[in-house]
Amino acid sequence: MADLLIKNGLVLTFEKDTLSGQIIPGGAVAVRGDSILKVGKTADLSNKYGSAKVIDASGRIVMPGFIITHTHMPYVLAHNQPVDFSQLKSFWDMLQKMGWEWLEDLTTGDGIYAATRYAAMKMLKNGTTTVCDMVEGPNAIPGALSCSARAIEEVGIRAQVGYEVTERIPGVSILEKLDRGMAEKGFEENLSFLSRYPAGGDGRVQGRIGVHTAYTNSVDTMKKARELADKHGCGIQIHIAEIPRAFLVEKYGKSAPRVLEEAGLLGPDVVAAHCIDLTDEDLKILKRNNVNIVHTPMTNSLGGNGVARVPEMLDQGMNVSIGHDCFFTLNTAEYIRYAYLVHKIHNANPMLIPPFQILDMVLGNPARALGMGDKIGSLTPGKKADIIIIKPDSPSPVTPASVIGYFTMTFQGGDVESVLIDGELIVEKGRMTTVDEEEVKGMCIDEAKILWRKNGIEV
Ligand SMILES: [Zn+2]
Repeated sequence: MADLLIKNGLVLTFEKDTLSGQIIPGGAVAVRGDSILKVGKTADLSNKYGSAKVIDASGRIVMPGFIITHTHMPYVLAHNQPVDFSQLKSFWDMLQKMGWEWLEDLTTGDGIYAATRYAAMKMLKNGTTTVCDMVEGPNAIPGALSCSARAIEEVGIRAQVGYEVTERIPGVSILEKLDRGMAEKGFEENLSFLSRYPAGGDGRVQGRIGVHTAYTNSVDTMKKARELADKHGCGIQIHIAEIPRAFLVEKYGKSAPRVLEEAGLLGPDVVAAHCIDLTDEDLKILKRNNVNIVHTPMTNSLGGNGVARVPEMLDQGMNVSIGHDCFFTLNTAEYIRYAYLVHKIHNANPMLIPPFQILDMVLGNPARALGMGDKIGSLTPGKKADIIIIKPDSPSPVTPASVIGYFTMTFQGGDVESVLIDGELIVEKGRMTTVDEEEVKGMCIDEAKILWRKNGIEV
């Protein structure tokens, strides 16, 4: 018995990776409970599961949902916030002012709740079914992650969530002083969350400890993060080498990967965002520790921090997925396309990163990065029924031969028509089934106004 049969679609299974996956025209997916029961031809599955509820996916693509491995959902409150660029002279200023003073230090629990609901809703409507989110807000703890989880559960996206542990003191330059007490508060926030949302298991929301960086934490804090991650089996999310390495070298005489390896923090359960300014030795360190790289091409570009060595990482067999910090739009299509293009122009080589490789970076690779390779990332019997149905708005045929190229050429998030998580229809024909979209958006705008006014912006 199946509960649901999605039939007559162009089914893309993406098993293991895009090259070994099947492309099934006239395909069907049978769902039982929260899991995929069977994938095959519509004729075969219709005979077998005739009594199930049916979604007719004629003219549509049926595939696993996208997975984004680095987000900060509360950041959306600062989208379009007017910025006085005369106050910003460098990336350092952007971090200090845009990131910390004008946003994170002013973040409240209500702001986290409103922004996270909006961001999760938008990502779902654009086909993203799982995210790894790092919450920041030193004045919003304790309780920041509870606000985040409440929002995520209402909307219905799958998420790993952690609070960013940092020794940074709000209002004080990190060059002047750090405080281990701040990190302790961050650990407490993570531990309290992990007690309610443990890692592993079957929960749609799970904890993953967040660590800001090697330069805003002492070696003792990094060691503690590793100890706790081992104890709770939850893995770590962290930013590595998103700033020029000179800063780390000045502080420790070593690069970030070296510092983190010596602290014992690195490992196959680490999801590391950015990883831009790396030497050959740094790359080797990340590879030998099986660190999962999160490529964040747009925010790397915004900060003027360079282009990560992604083609080399892929050549070396490193696991690379895509993140976006929630700094620009929440539309996965934009990140797929930008990551697909930027390495070609940067290296003056059009052969780098073919379309299938980019799709791996939002499907199978991130599933493995999050330790969920056996649960999500492909349409495989036994895996979670996290499925998206896309109605391509294309000026040309989307066929088994052209469908992979469609994702880099003309795919837009607005083409995503329906989204299922755990077999539950969360987005139906472009509309959320779980929340009132206008109410979610209205509350987010209200919270953005509150934040902006704190920055002296009349609104
Ligand atoms: Zn980040």
